[in-house]
Amino acid sequence: MKLQFAGCGDAFASGGRFNTCIHVTSGERRILLDCGASSLVAMKKAGIDRGAIDAILLTHFHADHFGGIPFFILDQQLNVKRTRPLLIAGPPGLRDWYARAMALAFPGERTLSFELELREVDIGAVQTLAGMQVTPVHVKHDDRAGPCLAYRIESGGKTLCFSGDTEWTDTLIDAARGADLFICECYMFETLRKSHMTLSVLRRHLPAIGAKRVILTHLSEDMLSHLADVELECAVDGMVVEV
Ligand SMILES: [Zn+2]
Ligand SMILES: [Zn+2]
Repeated sequence: MKLQFAGCGDAFASGGRFNTCIHVTSGERRILLDCGASSLVAMKKAGIDRGAIDAILLTHFHADHFGGIPFFILDQQLNVKRTRPLLIAGPPGLRDWYARAMALAFPGERTLSFELELREVDIGAVQTLAGMQVTPVHVKHDDRAGPCLAYRIESGGKTLCFSGDTEWTDTLIDAARGADLFICECYMFETLRKSHMTLSVLRRHLPAIGAKRVILTHLSEDMLSHLADVELECAVDGMVVEV
C-alpha cells in the first residue's frame, strides 16, 4: 500500500497546507480519502493521476473534507474526459449532500460522461469498496450533517486506519487496532478542543491501539507551533508513505 498526502491541513489552511485529501494505491486500485475544497489544486501539485482514481471515501460533510467534490466531478467530465465508473462512498446522507453541493457550486442540469455511484456506507460492517475491505466506524466530531466516520481499510495484506475528524472516542481502538498505519487527526497539542483530537490525550491511548506506525494530520496552528515537542511522525503536503 502506498499513500500520498495531497493535503494534510485543517479547515483554515493552517501552515499554508491544503485541505484533507489522501491518495491511496493498493495493487491496481486507487482511492482518495476525503476531497476537501482545495484538493483539486493539491492533486495537481502532487502530480496525482486523477483519471486513475477508482473511488473517493468521504469521512464527513465539512467543506475541508468534502468541498472539493464539485471541482473533482467537473474536472473528470471536462478535462480528464472520464468514461469509466467512479464510486463516491460516504456517510448516510451522501446522496442529498452531493446534490446540494453540485447545485450550489455549478448550477444547472448536467449529464455525466461516466457512471457515478453514490454509496451510503453501512456503519460498523465490513464492506468491499474499490476492491478493498472497508469498515466505517462512527467517531465523535459533529453529527449535525450526518455521522462522522473513521475508516479501517484492509487491502493487499496491509491495514490502514484513517480517523477522519474526531475528539478521542473508544471506537478508535477497534478502528485502528494493530494497523500497519494509523493516520490520526491531531488538531491540538495540549489544550482540549471539542470535536478534535489533542495529542496529550491521544498519547495515552496509543498503547491500547497498538498500531505499527502513526502519522498525525489535520494540524492546527497550535500543533504546528509545538512540532519540536511532538515525537510522533507528522504529515506534510506531498509526503509519500509506503506500508
Ligand atoms: Zn477537518
Ligand atoms: Zn470536520
